[in-house]
Amino acid sequence: MTLSCFALGERMLDVDEALAALGELVATRLPAERLPLTAAARRVLAGECISPIDVPQRTNAAMDGIALAWPAPASVPLVGDVLAGHRFERPLEPGEAVSITTGAPLPVGADTVIMHEQLEVDAPARMATIRHAQHVSRGQNVRHAGEDVARGSRAMPAGTRLKPQHLGLLASLGIDSVDVVRRPRVTIFSTGDEVTLPGEVLGEAGIYDANRYSLRGMLEALGCEIDDLGILADRPGAIRDALAHAATRADMVITSGGVSSGQADWVKTALASIGRLGFWRIAMRPGRPLAFGVLGETAVPFFGLPGNPVAVMVTFLQFVQPLLRRLQGEHAWQPTRWNAIADEAMHSRGGRVDFHRGIYHIDGAGRLHVRATGSQGSGRLSSMVAANCLIEIESARADVAAGETVLLQPFGELT
Ligand code: AMP
Ligand code: MG
Repeated sequence: MTLSCFALGERMLDVDEALAALGELVATRLPAERLPLTAAARRVLAGECISPIDVPQRTNAAMDGIALAWPAPASVPLVGDVLAGHRFERPLEPGEAVSITTGAPLPVGADTVIMHEQLEVDAPARMATIRHAQHVSRGQNVRHAGEDVARGSRAMPAGTRLKPQHLGLLASLGIDSVDVVRRPRVTIFSTGDEVTLPGEVLGEAGIYDANRYSLRGMLEALGCEIDDLGILADRPGAIRDALAHAATRADMVITSGGVSSGQADWVKTALASIGRLGFWRIAMRPGRPLAFGVLGETAVPFFGLPGNPVAVMVTFLQFVQPLLRRLQGEHAWQPTRWNAIADEAMHSRGGRVDFHRGIYHIDGAGRLHVRATGSQGSGRLSSMVAANCLIEIESARADVAAGETVLLQPFGELT
């Protein structure tokens, strides 16, 4: 681990600087564990996957029809039937054909499949006549051995998150168990005397705990194991004990609230006794204040996210997500970004990155447009519910005029 993220002090950091410092902090991924393929959805491959076989295993028919050796005669005798799962026992001679079904291996000597629709078959005489012979070409309707995945080739690199298509491909290689990175263990808790458990009666000055639920949803989508400590009151001692406990068992600790410099600001005190504070002022909105540090002897990464629910989600998506993915071996991960036409003016200040909640759509000419969801208060979680993307207005830009191009990050796996 380098100390660079601690050398940055308390000055205001750019989003990119903060991301780079975080990236340096987690250089190695968590250890691997072996899982049956049926339990590996959404997990990340620990090593690359080299194909043990050709897929398809044999050159085979892509259509129902007849298989023959080119050139195709106008009329050809049918000397056998090959069904999927069976083989024709002898080499095919020139001028012979077999009827064949999709997926059945081509007999030795055959190189072309002519589909049913191009044939007239005289079944009793076992003869096929080719209609429109000018439309038939050598090698048509044949799938070659290894054309999907060749034996010995790399089917997937290490660090691949296994979506349904990956699971299907691994299965097609005959693989029934895989080495995946073990789930990150993430301890979370909310803080605040006013923060109330949903289901309980809301006090005069209370607010229901939204953050643990949005955090849990995002952590689950990233395949994490969650250790949920609930809601802690603004008592530095209790919070310090919870952090100290978490530092002995978690791969990461995430809290929300209590990081602003008000009277309930416990993070600096707690971290001073059991860890180190890295940086906590990032030039972005929403998202300030955000604390980052490490806890305990093993330097467990710690995020003290803001209290406001939108800020929690935005900072998680921008900062926590890349780190959790690195811990799982997804080193090259970046958020998806698209360019879109701003359909309305948007407020932004130069020198900081503004994230607006946005709704994109594609117009009749195929151009991508985006508008904001209305008021952008960082306590308004309804803006996240109305949105289908975050609009990212870079720090070099100030206000955006209608018609200008802006970047957006579409909601995806986590949102
Ligand atoms: P803080 O950073 O603790 O000052 O919190 C900033 C704002 O976020 C305050 O209005 C808090 O009431 C609110 N807040 C803090 N934690 C939560 C939570 N878990 N769920 C919903 N709102 C919260
Ligand atoms: Mg608070």
